[in-house]
Amino acid sequence: MSTTAGQVIRCKAAVAWEAGKPLVIEEVEVAPPQKMEVRIKILFTSLCHTDVYFWEAKGQNPVFPRILGHEAGGIVESVGEGVTDLEPGDHVLPVFTGECKECAHCKSEESNMCDLLRINTDRGVMIHDQKSRFSINGKPVFHFVGTSTFSEYTVVHVGCLAKINPLAPLDKVCVLSCGISTGLGATLNVAKPKKGSSVAIFGLGAVGLAAAEGARIAGASRIIGVDLNANRFELAKKFGVTEFVNPKDYTKPVQEVIAEMTNGGVDRSVECTGHIDAMISAFECVHDGWGVAVLVGVPHKDAVFKTSPLNLLNERTLKGTFFGNYKPRSDIPSVVEKYMNKELEVEKFITHEVPFSEINKAFDLMLKGEGLRCIIRMDA
Ligand code: NAD
Ligand code: ZN
Repeated sequence: MSTTAGQVIRCKAAVAWEAGKPLVIEEVEVAPPQKMEVRIKILFTSLCHTDVYFWEAKGQNPVFPRILGHEAGGIVESVGEGVTDLEPGDHVLPVFTGECKECAHCKSEESNMCDLLRINTDRGVMIHDQKSRFSINGKPVFHFVGTSTFSEYTVVHVGCLAKINPLAPLDKVCVLSCGISTGLGATLNVAKPKKGSSVAIFGLGAVGLAAAEGARIAGASRIIGVDLNANRFELAKKFGVTEFVNPKDYTKPVQEVIAEMTNGGVDRSVECTGHIDAMISAFECVHDGWGVAVLVGVPHKDAVFKTSPLNLLNERTLKGTFFGNYKPRSDIPSVVEKYMNKELEVEKFITHEVPFSEINKAFDLMLKGEGLRCIIRMDA
């Protein structure tokens, strides 16, 4: 039992007081974990676009003051009532969506959309008592997607924690908490390309490059990267992308360009842009008879997917995925093992590192579109 168990911990956290304003490092109080909750010490966290979207709060419900952050690695400090499968000292990755292991989704082999712990971006409190575990001078500071990792200590539902190999370096595997696993799983679990097949990846951000990494691991022989930003192409070579297509270089639709390059279409495609035109192209560029397209990007709320039903009758398959179809607790430990046995390369996603005191620099890098992942070291 740690000496802090059952006590309020005072520590540093980066608080978003207002939409779009730099985060402020504050001393916060972190209450002990309640029923089915775990308090963890965060060692490393990284920044993902979703944090920036909710910090900007342009299209989302503004919930402030709030502690953002959801890609991270940490160590269990103490556990609340009813927690039996984690104990102090365990290494964990918090995940923005959960696995209660009891609902119909968790019991189904085919779903990772847990009824109880599925992502909820509007909720700023814990499920158990609808209260926040964070406060400043007694005033609550809200949680974000059940993780709030921009804090030295945070409280998370046990169902949103993947217990991982304690030998895995947390400064690397922390990025497997969200975007990288999403792209990787979209290819390995949903698109499932066969060895020697062709795969088109739309959007070469961190998620798309992780999808490309999945295609490389699956043994695809052609990986065609599609992006409107030609600056992405050089970087993408490291991820096994073999050919590049910039839709801006052509007058005809990109799906026709890809069909010509591949004798009728690619075997698989994975869309990681969030733009509806790319989603439609990603579907229409797969080969008839066997092609499978997987949508990963989160579209604008009013977007409508339009295509001829003949594309489906001609035996093309359209699928979508949430968190790469991984169940957070059951499957993420094995993604970490893929890194440990050198099947999956994680280092190439990590392009920057900043101390916690300079967390706003990580936001600046992402807003400028520089690099892929910036690791934030909590002890510095
Ligand atoms: P990113 O912004 O870093 O990368 C997107 C890339 O797509 C950019 O390089 C951009 O130039 C390119 N692009 C935009 N429009 C395009 C078009 N029409 N054709 C070709 N390329 C185009 O984003 P990211 O962090 O890699 O995330 C990608 C998407 O995945 C986002 O929509 C994000 O919300 C989504 N996402 C989904 C899940 C899920 O569970 N389904 C999880 C995490 C992220
Ligand atoms: Zn569940």
